[in-house]
Amino acid sequence: LEQARSESRVVTLDLSDANSALDRASLMRELPHAIASGQLFLQYQPKVNVRRQEIAGAEALVRWRHPMRGLILPGDFISAAEECGEIAGLTLWTMRQVIADQQVMQAHGHDLPVFINISGVLLADDAFVAEACLIVKESQAKIGFEITETAVIRDPDSAIAHLQRFSEIGIPLAIDDYGAGLSSLAYLKQLPAAELKIDKMFVMQLTSSNRDPLIVRSTIDLAHALEMEVTAEGVETPAALALLSVMGCDMVQGYLISRPVALDAFIRFLDDEGHKAVAALRPSFVRP
Ligand code: C2E
Ligand code: MG
Ligand code: MG
Ligand code: MG
Repeated sequence: LEQARSESRVVTLDLSDANSALDRASLMRELPHAIASGQLFLQYQPKVNVRRQEIAGAEALVRWRHPMRGLILPGDFISAAEECGEIAGLTLWTMRQVIADQQVMQAHGHDLPVFINISGVLLADDAFVAEACLIVKESQAKIGFEITETAVIRDPDSAIAHLQRFSEIGIPLAIDDYGAGLSSLAYLKQLPAAELKIDKMFVMQLTSSNRDPLIVRSTIDLAHALEMEVTAEGVETPAALALLSVMGCDMVQGYLISRPVALDAFIRFLDDEGHKAVAALRPSFVRP
């Protein structure tokens, strides 16, 4: 470990090699301090209900403003946080920050559920689950969880039991990135989730590929048969939105409506542009 520490200290200077294993090691070493010293912040991305044509909620996405490296996106540090045991602390920080931010939203007249990404590894962490339940119960906040399978769920039985606990105390659950990576029909069968989010890899080429629309339509039908609502992530074009609407997709999220933005910009979006954006979606709706 000492050797790895000194090696990673040297490699920190090599900014060109941003994705090497040792670079990850140095990020892991810095993460606890980054959380404690306020280098993390959240952005919010709205989720729109296409049938009701209204903003259904938001997803909170974490970012790291690193003093030397600038902005680091979660793709570059979440798996490191999972490996070094920092993911519980990071996620509890995220929950508390979301609750504080929701109070600001409420002061501006916006009362929306906010979904937080919960890494699969945390479903094996009894202490995290207990703390997360306590935070939600005490705050009475409208918080949902998106279950992200960035790591293999090693003990599915205990993961399902923990998800049931979340569900019982009123936390809505969504299966994230469905169709990509590790998501499986076995999870779909067992998880007490009311929402399924189709991964953006199937949505971004929806109108330019032959297979993606078939996959998306079957997934929507499968989810509906299981009485789940469907969200498409990565909706970037009016054409994709129109097609998803015809296919009966319940909710959409993507750059077409808004990129993830900081709290103040998100409140401005809710105050003003959001309604315009949602209204602007209307002419593009093609009904079956
Ligand atoms: P995710 O939960 O699937 O989040 C959606 C990702 O797609 C976000 O990337 C978002 O910025 C991006 N996105 C949204 N709309 C569009 C679009 O129209 N086009 C394109 N090209 N991209 C779009 P981001 O913020 O980099 O997050 C990546 C992943 O990191 C998330 O994927 C989630 O799995 C994870 N993550 C983010 N925040 C947290 C967190 O607080 N805790 C945990 N455990 N994971 C997190
Ligand atoms: Mg998510
Ligand atoms: Mg997702
Ligand atoms: Mg995704």
